[in-house]
Amino acid sequence: MIPVSEAQKIVLEHSQLLPTERVPLSAAGGRVLRQDIRADMDMPPFDRARMDGYALRSADISEVPARLRLVGEVAAGAEFDGIVSAGEAVRIMTGAPVPPGADAVQKVEVTETDGHTVLIKEGVRPGQFITRRGAEAQRGQVLLHPGERITPAAVAVMATFGYAQVTVSRRPVVSVFSTGDELVDVDRIPSTAQIRNCNSYTIREYLSQLGAEGRDGGIIPDDEETTFQRIATALESSDALILSGGVSMGAYDWVKPALRRLGAKIHFERVRLHPGKPTVFATFQEKTIFALPGNPVSVMVTFLQFAFPGLNAMMGARDKFIPSLEATLEAEARHAPDRLSCLPGQLRIRDGRASVRPLKWGGSSDFIPLLHANALIIVPDGVPRIEAGQLCQTLLIPSQEVR
Ligand code: AMP
Ligand code: MG
Repeated sequence: MIPVSEAQKIVLEHSQLLPTERVPLSAAGGRVLRQDIRADMDMPPFDRARMDGYALRSADISEVPARLRLVGEVAAGAEFDGIVSAGEAVRIMTGAPVPPGADAVQKVEVTETDGHTVLIKEGVRPGQFITRRGAEAQRGQVLLHPGERITPAAVAVMATFGYAQVTVSRRPVVSVFSTGDELVDVDRIPSTAQIRNCNSYTIREYLSQLGAEGRDGGIIPDDEETTFQRIATALESSDALILSGGVSMGAYDWVKPALRRLGAKIHFERVRLHPGKPTVFATFQEKTIFALPGNPVSVMVTFLQFAFPGLNAMMGARDKFIPSLEATLEAEARHAPDRLSCLPGQLRIRDGRASVRPLKWGGSSDFIPLLHANALIIVPDGVPRIEAGQLCQTLLIPSQEVR
């Protein structure tokens, strides 16, 4: 049995960086960026009005009210053809370039106009309501780096600076299998002793959130030859495989024998983790294989602990692990001895402080409480339990938001 941190290190070491591809900006959200994003111009590209009002010379407003001659108008997208001279003002709209000669803008709310002149009723500082050219970004400035996830804000920046296409990581193609004679698919009524397959769906849901391309390989029956054939065939057209079930000590657990027969290298097969001890990680050529234990909670925990960082590494993501947060335990957390435990918890933030409540949970097959979990409470290897009121480390379950 190896510690979780060591297992994660092994996964990262064997996760090969995928090639890049160019995608249109409209398809770039959620992908991992693989290029620098630079400003191709100053932003704003000109001295820009921040308010609807009047562009003027601040020196003209030494006392208020002051009356100025109205000499024109400049709307957003237009330019004023001329210079603002002493005693003059130009009507200006938010986002329009401030005309030469003017050094401030006064907002329309504190003015009055008769159409020929404007009365400025409040004093004006030089530079008031003007965003100077280049104040937000300077031409050539690097704003995003390779490895960053493309957020809506990143898309806004890329659109602003003319990136119609962006270089991102190719999506890893991940074939997903569930193993077990007891499994039937979601559209079937299980007979006695059968259950529906949920793991394939959970895994593909996480994959799509990661920006990976999950492919459903279906259910593999507990048969040695079929297990071998289905794994071998899927490896030909995948970057990674994720299987669930069939890795324990049962008489019909055929995944490891199939991997050995194939010549895959098994890097670990037992981890000091609860739930998730029998997790297997193997490689075949450049491809990674995650064979997760079958219980749905184990699947979730081991996916997040191992496959999540591994696939992020393949995409070159800078942040590979799910985020963690320290929180105060609301009730005692116990766990299996000599393993790192990941217990489902409900994390809350109140008055800026995080606290977490362990959920009532019947073990690794009891996944329905996970509906209410947004965090995994970490009880470290070698720590028997954490008392209520103590601080503990939590891992934030992706897309199960903290409220
Ligand atoms: P195994 O590791 O194959 O012994 O599976 C452990 C437990 O998880 C068994 O009770 C299985 O029925 C259950 N299980 C395995 N695969 C799935 C699946 N795809 N969906 C739901 N439960 C599963
Ligand atoms: Mg099984």
